Amino acid sequence: MTGKGAALSTAITATNRRTAARVAVADIFYSFQGEGVNLGRRALFVRLMKCNLTCGYPGMPRTADAAAAGAMVCDTEYTWNTTKHDLRAAPAMSAAEIWDQLVRLDPATSDPGLAPVDLVVVSGGEPLLHPSIVVDLARSASASGRALEIETNATIAPSAALIAAGARFNAGLKLASSAVPFSKRIKPQVIAQLQASGRVRWKFVVTGPDDVQEVAGLQQEFGLTEVWLSPEGANVDVIVDRTRWLADVALTHGWNLTTRQHVLIWGDERGR
Ligand code: SF4
Repeated sequence: MTGKGAALSTAITATNRRTAARVAVADIFYSFQGEGVNLGRRALFVRLMKCNLTCGYPGMPRTADAAAAGAMVCDTEYTWNTTKHDLRAAPAMSAAEIWDQLVRLDPATSDPGLAPVDLVVVSGGEPLLHPSIVVDLARSASASGRALEIETNATIAPSAALIAAGARFNAGLKLASSAVPFSKRIKPQVIAQLQASGRVRWKFVVTGPDDVQEVAGLQQEFGLTEVWLSPEGANVDVIVDRTRWLADVALTHGWNLTTRQHVLIWGDERGR
């Protein structure tokens, strides 16, 4: 092929290469959003592999029996902790393949008499490690009339394309109780960018009174406008106790309070 045809073919090949980026996927499932402003709302979830933080440990654990150092330990270590989990089992998928699977999980796809699921949640790990994938998913969500939320640790700036695609951000800034060094978990420029997007809700997983003090300080320092507290815990008793304790704390500080509905219903079962 020569001339325009060859140029077109090259362009199409390049486009295919660009759009065929693949990402390792931990889980794709249909459930309720378990936390935050959309708590209890049906949603289609995709959980992507890899994280840039190591919550519960000051750095990447070196052995499978490495003791956690933080009061808040990651509940999705299977997305990043190579000492405990074989991450190679996660299938690599393109954004189009992920989207097809999400849509198939919507019960309205097979039964048009049902109300469609109008919320997609992209979680991790840290989804913003995969910028082109999240943009493609956000565009697909927007084109299908669904809202899309990204659960992020707020250490990686979202692209302008992602914001333009209509994504919203549930930004879970990590506190000292995560044992992650301050310089890794608090990125002032990223925080400022997310805040300026007007599409962010700040969520803090709280283990105790020290966390509350830190949340207040971060809110003041960065002018965080919509703060949510969430009780740390992987079982019902801990979640209920902490939710009760946090109720007065949240009301006093002018913050919102979410519980963790998925843990109350299903405990720490994966893919719920
Ligand atoms: S940022 Fe989230 S996924 Fe990453 S280690 Fe922390 S809790 Fe786990």
